[in-house]
Amino acid sequence: MRHKDGHWVWIEGSGAVVERDEKTGAPLRLAGTHRDISDRKNAQKEMLFLALNDPLTKLPNRAYLRQELEKRLMEESSLCFLFLDLDHFKTINDVYGHTTGDKVIQVVAERLKSLLQPCDFMARVGGDEFVILSNEPLHVEIVCQKLIEGLDAPINVSEELFKLSVSIGIACFPEHGKSFEALFKNADTAMYEAKNNPYKHYLFYTASMTEQLLHTSKFDNDLKHAIEMDEFVLYYQPQINLHGNEVIGIEALVRWQHPVQGLLPPCKFIKRAEETRLIIPLGLLIFKKALIQMQQWQKEDFSYGIMAINISSVQIEEDDFMDRIEAIRKEIKISAMHIELEVTESSFMNNPKQFSQTLQKLENLGYKISIDDFGTGYSSLSYLKQLPLHKLKIDRSFIHDLPRDRDDQAIAKAIIALGKTLELEVLAEGVETEAQKAFLIENGCDSMQGFLFAKPMSAEALKTSLYQN
Ligand code: C2E
Ligand code: MG
Ligand code: MG
Repeated sequence: MRHKDGHWVWIEGSGAVVERDEKTGAPLRLAGTHRDISDRKNAQKEMLFLALNDPLTKLPNRAYLRQELEKRLMEESSLCFLFLDLDHFKTINDVYGHTTGDKVIQVVAERLKSLLQPCDFMARVGGDEFVILSNEPLHVEIVCQKLIEGLDAPINVSEELFKLSVSIGIACFPEHGKSFEALFKNADTAMYEAKNNPYKHYLFYTASMTEQLLHTSKFDNDLKHAIEMDEFVLYYQPQINLHGNEVIGIEALVRWQHPVQGLLPPCKFIKRAEETRLIIPLGLLIFKKALIQMQQWQKEDFSYGIMAINISSVQIEEDDFMDRIEAIRKEIKISAMHIELEVTESSFMNNPKQFSQTLQKLENLGYKISIDDFGTGYSSLSYLKQLPLHKLKIDRSFIHDLPRDRDDQAIAKAIIALGKTLELEVLAEGVETEAQKAFLIENGCDSMQGFLFAKPMSAEALKTSLYQN
């Protein structure tokens, strides 16, 4: 700022706006005051801060991380890149809302940061993703352990206690990558492996992880393509009523008619379809196929009781799940009364309130609901009582060693008694022997399903076999 001929002239580099004579370019007037200038300076500072830091946690962001890493790669001979991702964080956002989710992230960021050395660098690179740069490869496992244990104590936000855990992938410079991109990608891959590893919360990157990732990504593509091309068929297994020895229903069980590997059972693809959420379009495809089969059998006057269709928890958590199955049902014109939806106990662990509301609405529409694989989850009995259920299906792991095994005897009897108390029908899955059947009849089980009666089979085979009996 200079004083010239009684006028204040501002140096433009300071950020002030100067009006100039159009011809001579001489400064005429300042558009601003002292205050404008300091505001402007603050605004500039703030913009610079926002360009390099995350507004929520005030931690460095991805751009800052890149700058810092590239600087350190020039200065250091070794370095560790830690990629951290919170486990199941999405559930917090889904259940408690984003405001609570944001507060939890802030506390996590502060807590993790407080466990680091001043020379470590920590950035937030995504919703629940953080990166730490550590210059001490020898101690990196101790750092990971500290971070994992640091999250052990619950986080108190909005009068709720959140118990969090984290998965960490580690890529080391120079052996696992020499650039920002390579270290980021490889640490991310190792984190993904750690997330799927039941024993380790942190893992170092290895080349085989990339191979595995490529394999998985090819599988996902194939599965997506298979859904688009409809490479799925439904097999059907009868459910038998013990008292009348007649078929009371049929369970639809999906198979993938793989162009190279042949007919694949659900254990080869359902879990992955759930992880990738491809189960949502696949589940709708299955539902539609089952209803088209029902329509066909209706035309042929073939009666078989209800049609049981397996529904994954991922499907139920979708807001429009009910609307979408209802649209299919109305299009194919099948009464909901003839459809039973099989859900597993684990479905209501994530979001019990939403789960029971959805089931209630489905029941109001006339659908029947059964709990599949009962006994393998941890459902609270008082909660079970509030659900609009029709049937409990005892998991086949409790049937397998009947009547020999005393523990299984006790469990099967207890589930049958529980079903009776709650006024539910009880079906035993996986009945393979006459001895199992006799035990179940003796203990008052209502119905059964298993290889003793019939294996799952194609629609045509099922119809032929039922007509013969
Ligand atoms: P689930 O719903 O409990 O189905 C029963 C499974 O037990 C079927 O296996 C059936 O073939 C098998 N099983 C029936 N009776 C016997 C028996 O006497 N002995 C033995 N050892 N096994 C018996 P499958 O078809 O391989 O299906 C496995 C699981 O995959 C199903 O368990 C279900 O959780 C899932 N799944 C199958 N189809 C679908 C579907 O359309 N959608 C979804 N979301 N999941 C499905
Ligand atoms: Mg089932
Ligand atoms: Mg089952």
